[in-house]
Amino acid sequence: EAESPDATTTAVCGFCSTGCGLEIHLKEGRAVTLTPATDWPVNLGMACPKGWEALTVLNSPDRATRPLKKNANGKLEPTSWDDALKTFCDQLKGVQSRHGNDSVAFLSTGQIATEEMAFLGSLAKFGMGMLHGDGNTRQCMATAATAYKESFGFDAPPFSYADFEESDTLVFIGSNLCIAHPILWERVLRNPHKPEIIVIDPRLTETAQAATTHLQIQPKSDLTLLYTVANLLIQNDWIDRDFIAQHTNHFDEFAQHVAAYTLERAVERTGLPEQTIIDFAEKIHRGERVSFWWTMGVNQSHEGVRTAQAMINLALMTGNIGRPGTGANSVTGQCNAMGSRLFSNTTNLLGGHSFTNPADRQKVADILEIPVERIPTENSWAYDQIIEGIKEDKVKGLWVIATNPAHSWIHQNGLHEILQKLEFLVVQDMYTTTETAQLADLVLPAAGWGEKEGSFINSERRFGLHKKVSPAPGEALADFQIFRAIAGYWGCGDMFSKWTAPERVFETMQQLSQGQPCDISGIGGYQDLDDRRGVQWPFAAGETDIASERRLFADGQFFHADQKAKFRFEETRLPGETASEEYPFTLLTGRGTAAQWHTQTRTAKSGVLRKLYPNMLQVDLHPADAKELGIAPHEEIFVESKRGVIKAHANLTAAVQRGHVFMPMHWETVNQLTFAEFDPYSRQPSYKNAAVRLRRR
Ligand code: SF4
Repeated sequence: EAESPDATTTAVCGFCSTGCGLEIHLKEGRAVTLTPATDWPVNLGMACPKGWEALTVLNSPDRATRPLKKNANGKLEPTSWDDALKTFCDQLKGVQSRHGNDSVAFLSTGQIATEEMAFLGSLAKFGMGMLHGDGNTRQCMATAATAYKESFGFDAPPFSYADFEESDTLVFIGSNLCIAHPILWERVLRNPHKPEIIVIDPRLTETAQAATTHLQIQPKSDLTLLYTVANLLIQNDWIDRDFIAQHTNHFDEFAQHVAAYTLERAVERTGLPEQTIIDFAEKIHRGERVSFWWTMGVNQSHEGVRTAQAMINLALMTGNIGRPGTGANSVTGQCNAMGSRLFSNTTNLLGGHSFTNPADRQKVADILEIPVERIPTENSWAYDQIIEGIKEDKVKGLWVIATNPAHSWIHQNGLHEILQKLEFLVVQDMYTTTETAQLADLVLPAAGWGEKEGSFINSERRFGLHKKVSPAPGEALADFQIFRAIAGYWGCGDMFSKWTAPERVFETMQQLSQGQPCDISGIGGYQDLDDRRGVQWPFAAGETDIASERRLFADGQFFHADQKAKFRFEETRLPGETASEEYPFTLLTGRGTAAQWHTQTRTAKSGVLRKLYPNMLQVDLHPADAKELGIAPHEEIFVESKRGVIKAHANLTAAVQRGHVFMPMHWETVNQLTFAEFDPYSRQPSYKNAAVRLRRR
């Protein structure tokens, strides 16, 4: 009875980008349990296992409860906040005085509140004088952001989740929506139009099994397939010439480009039969409301930006954009990847502005009431360039916030060695046991989701609130409070004196957004956000459209100066590493389950979530390949790339093609094998393609 709730509040889930609404049931102001919100336009009363367990993972013995500092013996030991903050400032200022301001950088996350991201980016760049900072969204959504920006003129995913239910033809590329975004898949299942569901994936994933058509292509051949389909659509005149003429640029050059993508070429590259490719093009032509969806299989690719744009091109040339059930739609990864894209002050200046544009810098300086000279005039290095900077002794101090690069970065062995080169590494996190925290000189204990407040922006551009419903353990503080404290100790607290609470930062974000495509000046503060069950941007002051589901480009006007979208394209190329005689298998990596999240930092803390997922690393391989190699089911085998060798249990399944193996990303050793290649435009790592060999001993 002591646990019987006496009140209820709502909060957006803090794991994935779906942004489900949860009802948090409170006893004396403290969360005791939760249920999915039934009146939330996103999840309609549903939640996946992670959401149901969101409170459980807060209670864990390895929560960071006190600041920890490395002692003379190299061991982390507790210290006071005062000492930790002095150490933080002394050490990082020392690095800057020895090596220059740019020698200190930060790596942030898509998991903290938008207001915290804005505070961190402003503090680091305007207050502490850093030039370089990036987020783990580089590993997740940088490709989609770059693709949209080039094609539409702004990083603007055009869709609403209602489009899952309104399409008559849904095309999924590199997206295992069933387990990566299970609630969105539930919305597909609610589609009343008996839709065609076409899944393009090298694996027979859970989503592919549920599709009406599975195109089981060879890894990294999707761009060739999409260009060939574009060519077929043009050859058959299955295109919307009026839309192309009125609303796009560079179509003729695009048509010329794809003319070289013949069926013969596509058959050879993709491994698909010719008729399958023709049927795919026909299905796009026959569909009245065709939507294209992609996730990490595209984003984490050596030519991810052009592949995403190939889908955008198909949507544009067939007029499948701006109408219900259409669009070229990127489903984000983390709960606040879009917050990072718009307000983290890393790749873009706050509010989707540009560091290199003097007018943008002046606007931001005026709103923040800071000297414009405090704003860098150059872009940050991307994540991989910061890592490279450490390797080359250009970055000597690093501040890591709510992310775990020692597990998640591509080619992890290299990274461990590189991080050892730093003069000072600070990790700010909820847990002390992450692989990165274990390498730190200083650990700052942070509150987690449920222990603080702020906004997230989900995949369909919806701002939603999460709230403090539980006290943080020990001396852990909200990231927001840590940033405020650091500003004070650093000596730049005056610059942020107005930001006394997250909602004050939200008000600044509203000012910054005015006149931008992501204008949110019409939202009446946190209470209004809550009352509306979240708000999709744009929502400008004076706007009266309060529909709960909204999409972009209904008027055919894009964000380039001439209001037209651009066809972007390029010759396809092979990945930097392919299977060889010595390493004959292609390693694919990805999400293994709906029950675990990324590096399992939080989700492994739940007994329920652990039971929903095998407690050992598995490698999926085709039974015929196993037979040839004499590998028995469940046998522990070695998986080896040029970069490392790890052990895993053989899981024999025809879900992978012959010559391929699949490993889930949730285990710390998998990135010892991956090959560090990056999309040249988004600088996103290509996690899903490496050459490996298998051996029994
Ligand atoms: Fe919804 Fe994602 Fe949270 Fe699951 S993890 S409840 S799908 S927001």
